[in-house]
Amino acid sequence: MSHTLRNRASRPRTRAPRRLTAALLASAVSVCLVAASAPPAPLGVGDRLFPYLGNPGYNVASYDLSFTYPGRNDKPLQAVTTIDAWTTASLDRVNLDFAHGTVRSVEVDDQPASFTAAGDDLVITPETPLPAGSWMRITVRHTSDPRAVKGRDGGWVRTADGLAMANQADAAHLVFPSNDHPSDKAMFTIRVTAPNAYTAVANGIPTGVERVGGATTWTYRTLHPMATELAQVSIGRSSVLHRKGPHGLPVRDVVPTKDRAVLEPWLKKTPDQIAWMESKVGPYPFETYGLLMAQASTGFELETQTLSLFERNVFTDPAYPKWYVESVMVHELSHQWFGDSVTPRTWSDVWLNEGHATWYESLYAQEKAHKPMAARMKAAYTASDRWRAAGGPPAAPKRPDPGQKIGIFRPNIYDGAALALYALRQEIGRERFERLERIWVQTHRDRTVTTAEFVRLASNVAGRDLTGFFRAWLYGKKTPPMPGHPDWKSTAPAAAPAPAPTGRHSAR
Ligand SMILES: [Zn+2]
Repeated sequence: MSHTLRNRASRPRTRAPRRLTAALLASAVSVCLVAASAPPAPLGVGDRLFPYLGNPGYNVASYDLSFTYPGRNDKPLQAVTTIDAWTTASLDRVNLDFAHGTVRSVEVDDQPASFTAAGDDLVITPETPLPAGSWMRITVRHTSDPRAVKGRDGGWVRTADGLAMANQADAAHLVFPSNDHPSDKAMFTIRVTAPNAYTAVANGIPTGVERVGGATTWTYRTLHPMATELAQVSIGRSSVLHRKGPHGLPVRDVVPTKDRAVLEPWLKKTPDQIAWMESKVGPYPFETYGLLMAQASTGFELETQTLSLFERNVFTDPAYPKWYVESVMVHELSHQWFGDSVTPRTWSDVWLNEGHATWYESLYAQEKAHKPMAARMKAAYTASDRWRAAGGPPAAPKRPDPGQKIGIFRPNIYDGAALALYALRQEIGRERFERLERIWVQTHRDRTVTTAEFVRLASNVAGRDLTGFFRAWLYGKKTPPMPGHPDWKSTAPAAAPAPAPTGRHSAR
């Protein structure tokens, strides 16, 4: 994700109160799964930043999502979500995350099951308990409501001509029932039925278009596992523009039909940007790529898998310089490797996404627009102690602040984390750093990862133990000295409020 400051400033944030109950209950989960007699309760997988996200006791293999769009974006969609999952514990009840829609019915293995809501969870009780180590199929018939949830951001984004999706970090379960945590990636089939005037596009490749009377059903399938936070569905008066990327990679962009011509100069940059990223870290990890140009003011751009979400205005507002827009395109593109293909196992590891995306965004600006990375890193170094004080160190970010729209997505995990990568390159040298990056995305492709795994691989590539180095850079309250730049100084937190990461830029 990257933020555009302009929009961020213009949209106040409201936020739900902390769900203490969920947090407390979640912490008890690892000790005991739900006892049959206990009242239905929301569960979580124990994520430090989002304790109520995800659920224990099963791994999802695949989601099949069907949405029926009524032709307007202020009414609920009818939906059917089918989940194939493997149980890892004996389950009297199955918890899914789902918090914004009406559930009409639930079936487990084709048998009706009872269900109730508890916190952000849909708690399902099958006829008979499910044994550990078995397949289960859950079918939920429900509505999916595009109207904003009071006090919460994310989920469906209402655009000028339809809908898009922005689920990061904790909003997929406002759209569909799921195990809404990046530690449980799964395959997705997404079907959208909409009036014929609309075009629907989702992650992955199209596998069918069927027109029946006044409605068309569009079907898409991912060829790689995906985290729920990276799901994308676009419904609009859109055109899908096709072009070829490196090695014949199919690139398809989704744009408002009326804006095709004005956006084309930007869209045609993508194949070269993919080739540039491949020259840095190796083959593009997915079956397709493209930009979704939404007519909406989200205040951020988002790396939804194979189809990154952008605000159209970023490309049409002359306030954003060309080099800056291109570097944001590369930011979201690089997330396809860092975040989408190689996915953090907990939200505390999100610096692995944003630090790397900021790194390649900055490297691209250096190589293509003569914006020296060292200057940006020096500015980041100056601000780093303040960012750490405000948001926590890169790999131990603080929980979202009430009233702050950007949530956990603070400068400490963007330029603050890119700064740690810069320190690493200074420490181990360019050649080893570049090798590490390539091995990292190759080894962990389609998987989930932890910070500890990155530290281990970096140590292997460097040929020495870097645990202490990373402990200081990723978990320290204060910014360590920058190798090779003893003159760089970080301003003490008390001296001034933490600035936006790149003050000289109009946006980020
Ligand atoms: Zn990002």
